[in-house]
Amino acid sequence: MLSLKNAMVKTRFGNIVLIVAIAAVAVLSVSPGKVLSKPYCERLYDSARKDYYSLLESERKQRFHDSWEKVIDKFSRIADKYPQCSRTPDAIFNVGILYRKLYRKSWLKSDLETAKSTFLELQKKYPKSKLADDALLNAAEILEELGDKESAYLKYSDLVKKYPDGDMAQKARTKLKYLAAYAPKPKPVRTTRTKTGTARVTDVKYWSNPEYSRVVVYAKGKISYEKHLLKRDPTLGKPPRMYIDIKGTIPPSLCKPIPIGDGLLQQARVGQYDKSTVRLVLDIESMGDHRVFTMENPSRLIVDVMGKGGQVSGSGTMAGTGLGTGASPLPLAQQLGLGVKTIVLDPGHGGRDPGAIGPKGLKEKNVTLAVARMVKPKLEATGYKVLLTRDRDVYVELDERTAFANRKYADIFISIHTNASRSRRARGVETYFLGVARDRESSETALLENAISEQTLADLEKILLDLTRTSNLKQSSLLAESIQENLFNGLSGKHKSVKNHGVKQASFYVLIGAQMPAVLVETSFISHPTEEKLLRSSKYQDLISESIYNGIIHYIDKLAKVATREKPS
Ligand SMILES: [Zn+2]
Repeated sequence: MLSLKNAMVKTRFGNIVLIVAIAAVAVLSVSPGKVLSKPYCERLYDSARKDYYSLLESERKQRFHDSWEKVIDKFSRIADKYPQCSRTPDAIFNVGILYRKLYRKSWLKSDLETAKSTFLELQKKYPKSKLADDALLNAAEILEELGDKESAYLKYSDLVKKYPDGDMAQKARTKLKYLAAYAPKPKPVRTTRTKTGTARVTDVKYWSNPEYSRVVVYAKGKISYEKHLLKRDPTLGKPPRMYIDIKGTIPPSLCKPIPIGDGLLQQARVGQYDKSTVRLVLDIESMGDHRVFTMENPSRLIVDVMGKGGQVSGSGTMAGTGLGTGASPLPLAQQLGLGVKTIVLDPGHGGRDPGAIGPKGLKEKNVTLAVARMVKPKLEATGYKVLLTRDRDVYVELDERTAFANRKYADIFISIHTNASRSRRARGVETYFLGVARDRESSETALLENAISEQTLADLEKILLDLTRTSNLKQSSLLAESIQENLFNGLSGKHKSVKNHGVKQASFYVLIGAQMPAVLVETSFISHPTEEKLLRSSKYQDLISESIYNGIIHYIDKLAKVATREKPS
């Protein structure tokens, strides 16, 4: 799921609200004797609260999800459009309460999850509001209700720490006693430098690809690190090395050399350098470029070592920008579309990650898997080798998905998803390829979707800028266009209501590191009641898979045609 267009819909609506607001002020200011007693946003709030009470009084209204949505929307709009309004914390709080109450009717876990994140958002955005501690208490209670007692414990203790004198602190203290068994275990090592946090290394893995090697250090806790490069040392007979110091600890069982020997890296070694430092050493055979960055959920440090210059231009990369400039640097086989042999389909989410959940409980992970399974035989019948990053309901990390595609020498990578939006009215299809999000809202969405820190995002955008110079952006955008066009035409032919949101660029981790044209397709909105119903039907799933198949085939055909036209005679 990804929700960029949500913001646009809201902006449009916001403009209308604003125009009405200006008109209202204008009218009031010219009518003599009238006193503008309350700011506009506060009057909006009063009106929303009136609707809220009338919902609470009517058993009949409460039976319909829509009645709840309307009141929630009204409060949400105040929060979105008037962040400075004195009533905004109350509006957000009411959204949380409404979702919590709604859960008692709908029994949809997603409603409870939304309530929780709304309360957390309130505490984060308005930490000084008188409702901040109430919000934190609500979030903790919901976590308890969801069975996540460890996280609930942390939130209660957070509350006591942040608001020791507030009226919710006593309640939280009682809860802490009751949940004492779920308190986090004391940290194994104490260092004097705890300010930046320490990590406990849990595993070290590597992947070898033709163009790069990836070493990943998994850890519990936030990773902070320092990177160092050492030149070859002929006196000691040592190869050039890169070493990375991570603040934290590692169990002795993991402290052994990992032989790699793939032409880029000889081996990786990891060990406890001093009491509070884990050192990862990479013995280098040959290295062009490299990148080091961290990701969260699970917390990990990733080191990619690329080959020298010429090696990188291999499979499916395209230097420069122009297909159709007449001076395409693509290998001829690839220009002819002959390069495409293997296609990797990536059904989004899976296992403990359900993806987005529809109003009637349909899970994104099940739809994406069903669609991928339908695309596969169609492509195979045309003669392509097709691999799935998962063929059952299992959790696969984002970076392992592209690493898999690289390892299998895939020529095309397609990640399949269903979209979701806070507004249940959002619907339609869109296709993404990797790029730097252009505006603040897209960045925020990327942050949300990718579960990473802002610093990491900033680091990654640097890497992305780098990638745009050398990688498959042009090819990816062509592939995205072909899939989007075929998907929209295919679906709208049978379902007139389907909207075309076009091709977009965003920083999706699942696409980073792919060494081939890679796109992410949002097949419909699972959050829209009608589209959820469609997505559940195998007929619609098949229509989607047929359209994705057509998109891929048209892209390959187009490549072949361009190449034939431009082939020197
Ligand atoms: Zn998704």
